[in-house]
Amino acid sequence: MKVTDHIKESKGTAISFEILPPLKGKTIESIYNHLDPLMEFNPAFINVTYHRSEQVFKKKADGTFEKVEVRKRPGTVGICAAIMNHYKIDAVPHLICGGFNLQETENALIDLAFLGIDNVLLLRGDAAKNETAFEPEPDGHKYAIDLLKQVMNLNAGIYLEEDLKATNKTTFCIGVAGYPEKHFEAPNMQTDLRYLKEKVDGGADYIVTQMFFDNEKYYSFVKACRDFGIKVPIIPGLKPIYTKKQLTVLPKTFHIDLPTDLSNEILKCKNDEEVEKVGIEWLLHQSKDLKKNNVPVLHYYTLGKPHIVASVVKNL
Ligand SMILES: Cc1cc2nc3c(=O)[nH]c(=O)nc-3n(C[C@H](O)[C@H](O)[C@H](O)COP(=O)(O)OP(=O)(O)OC[C@H]3O[C@@H](n4cnc5c(N)ncnc54)[C@H](O)[C@@H]3O)c2cc1C
Repeated sequence: MKVTDHIKESKGTAISFEILPPLKGKTIESIYNHLDPLMEFNPAFINVTYHRSEQVFKKKADGTFEKVEVRKRPGTVGICAAIMNHYKIDAVPHLICGGFNLQETENALIDLAFLGIDNVLLLRGDAAKNETAFEPEPDGHKYAIDLLKQVMNLNAGIYLEEDLKATNKTTFCIGVAGYPEKHFEAPNMQTDLRYLKEKVDGGADYIVTQMFFDNEKYYSFVKACRDFGIKVPIIPGLKPIYTKKQLTVLPKTFHIDLPTDLSNEILKCKNDEEVEKVGIEWLLHQSKDLKKNNVPVLHYYTLGKPHIVASVVKNL
């Protein structure tokens, strides 16, 4: 079932979760162990992130180094299929431009369609670790909108091989990313919104936001989107804080601000156990307020901490 149908059919605010594939070498059991404690909350869907491969330098026996491609977290498509099979819940794979050429993207989409996966969240991806700015593959997409156009083409039965006859149309429901605090590369919010509107006008059915810790940022973003003519559902993305280190890591990695009240409370904590309690309180407060304001879905980035998310959702 499509994410947009889940939203239409939900009585009130729905719940969804986002997980990372496990590090290479782990089994699917690690995913089930992660998700089992969250199943009592009847998530409408579960997102699975996509992680591109990285180039690393490996020391050889003779002391020289060789460059090798390593994908630390493979398995997004397989995990989605396993989730749908095991829990009978819709899975939403993330698909990115980075590291994919057009043909590989089409093959991945064909696999997803064959598996009965109705949804995709389309992203550009970040720069590879050895690059200073995002570089598309020679025959790949530069922006999420380009990837979206490819999926929309498949939804119209148009494949890369133009002479294919009597093709079937795929029916993917498409999500894209939005940034309540602006994407870090955009010169200003208006320009970022212009590109977001292009994605929606191009066929995106809904938006999932980057994490934020001040709900006012989300509300202003939704208002700015509506004023700009972006009418699709805007799902808030929520993340728990559980270590003091996140005070610097989150702004640096995700280009977001933490409210002073939250950072002050965290700075008072003696250890990460105390930070976790503050983080749970904050996320619960944020979630209750968003729910009161009738957001379509509360989408939690669980990121290896299902017990934290569970203790928030339990008390909603
Ligand atoms: C909900 C969510 C989930 C995510 N999941 C993943 C994941 O699974 N894997 C992963 O690697 N990353 C993930 N990311 C991170 C994401 O890939 C990065 O934030 C990336 O830097 C931007 O992706 P995007 O899809 O927003 O890019 P785009 O929409 O392509 O935008 C990127 C930048 O280019 C600008 N822009 C857009 N279109 C144009 C255009 N036509 N011309 C000029 N400028 C343009 C935008 O304003 C923005 O500054 C996720 C992010 C979010 C919010």
